[in-house]
Amino acid sequence: MKYISTRGRVAPIGFIDMFLMGLGEDGGLIVPETIPTVSQERLESWSGLSFQHLMFEIVSLYANGEIPDADLKKLIQDSYAGFTSPDVLPLTTLNDSLSVMELFHGPTFAFKDVALQLMGNLYAYVAKQRNEIINILGATSGDTGASAISSVRGKDGIRICILHPNGKVSRVQELQMTTVQDDNVLNLSVNGNFDDCQGIIKELFADLPFKSKYHLRAINSINFVRILAQSVYYFYAYLQLPKEKRANGVSFSIPTGNFGNIFSGMLAKKMGVPINQLLLATNENNILERFIREGVYKPEGFRMTHSPSMDIQVASNFERYLYYFLGEDAVEVSARMERFKSEGRLTFLPEEVARIQRDLSAYGVGNDECLQTIRSYKDEYGYLLDPHSACGIAAYERAGAPDAGTFVSLATAHPAKFDEAIRLLGIEQQFPERIQELFDKPQRQTVVDNAKVEIAKQLESFFV
Ligand SMILES: *Cc1c(COP(=O)(O)O)cnc(C)c1O
Repeated sequence: MKYISTRGRVAPIGFIDMFLMGLGEDGGLIVPETIPTVSQERLESWSGLSFQHLMFEIVSLYANGEIPDADLKKLIQDSYAGFTSPDVLPLTTLNDSLSVMELFHGPTFAFKDVALQLMGNLYAYVAKQRNEIINILGATSGDTGASAISSVRGKDGIRICILHPNGKVSRVQELQMTTVQDDNVLNLSVNGNFDDCQGIIKELFADLPFKSKYHLRAINSINFVRILAQSVYYFYAYLQLPKEKRANGVSFSIPTGNFGNIFSGMLAKKMGVPINQLLLATNENNILERFIREGVYKPEGFRMTHSPSMDIQVASNFERYLYYFLGEDAVEVSARMERFKSEGRLTFLPEEVARIQRDLSAYGVGNDECLQTIRSYKDEYGYLLDPHSACGIAAYERAGAPDAGTFVSLATAHPAKFDEAIRLLGIEQQFPERIQELFDKPQRQTVVDNAKVEIAKQLESFFV
């Protein structure tokens, strides 16, 4: 299988080249030329497989044999060895129609580990096989940085630099990034906000001589491998459910910011998982909700919420949805993205809005509603949700179709990671040991001004 760009101006490339390219060189997002489908018989034959085995089967459909089976199996085994649950991603039943799939048992306690642990190992593998220098550069509002650092720390042939906004990530997120002592890790703590960090990264990646001189690679969710790895938990959740509960298909409630988590679900559905409703759960930064309900895609009015990992305005994976929505017409995608760039918004026709609503439904959760949901699920089920997972549950309560049958709500972070919000409810929690021990470790980070020149200088002395 080959990979192409949503804007049609990247010559078809293979799996590993696609992985290394990240964002398409024409500014579009990379997608497979055709999405492989899995028959119901084959899907059923996968029930009972471990998460790792299922990951192997699904990645194999996309990897073109570019990675020998034995190597791919080992990469996958290594990637999930650091997850503490024997099921890797355990499914907890709350009531007759609702289950929660916990995606946060990896080393940094957020669902980013599901894809980034694999990507880190894959980068190390490619560095060795192709003798490539891999220098990873990224900006984070907290979870992606911690997870990416954890996935490549101490690995040969790889260096990683992560920018985070000084003082604007949660305490645990900061410690997860800055207590890592390996020499191939550089944390730059920027006097500014997340958008400032992201802006500088974008400028550095757009500076093509700089990008190629320092072999810069990206880890954000524009990388298709991240989407692919995340699609596996939709298969896994479906197959973990008892047969009678999934006979009429399953619906998902999905905390989303960059459209990455939910697009992975759309990919699983296109591949053949019997999914009824895909419910997009977001917070007060509800650009995606307005897109689905009103047919207007327009970033505006940034708000601080209890779920900072979803405090996102421009959803980088939106373009992948648009590509399939427009019948894989790259010319039309390019035209619409040009319009978005010049006008700052995209407006869809009523006929189009009806079609969007057949694919997706949406609900934006208010700050108080988020906390109320944590409170009520703690009281009713003795189950402690983190604020992101609570958005998923609140969306299910408010907007889940009553006839949708079995629902799985995705839990994307461990509550200990967002204790600031949990404490507002007066709830005291016991931290897992791997989080507790962070508080005693020395931190390593360099505080820098929000200035491209200063940051570029830091990179020049760090990257080889
Ligand atoms: C990143 C993140 C999300 C949203 O994922 P997207 O890929 O942006 O859709 C949700 N919850 C948590 C805890 C996250 O870290």
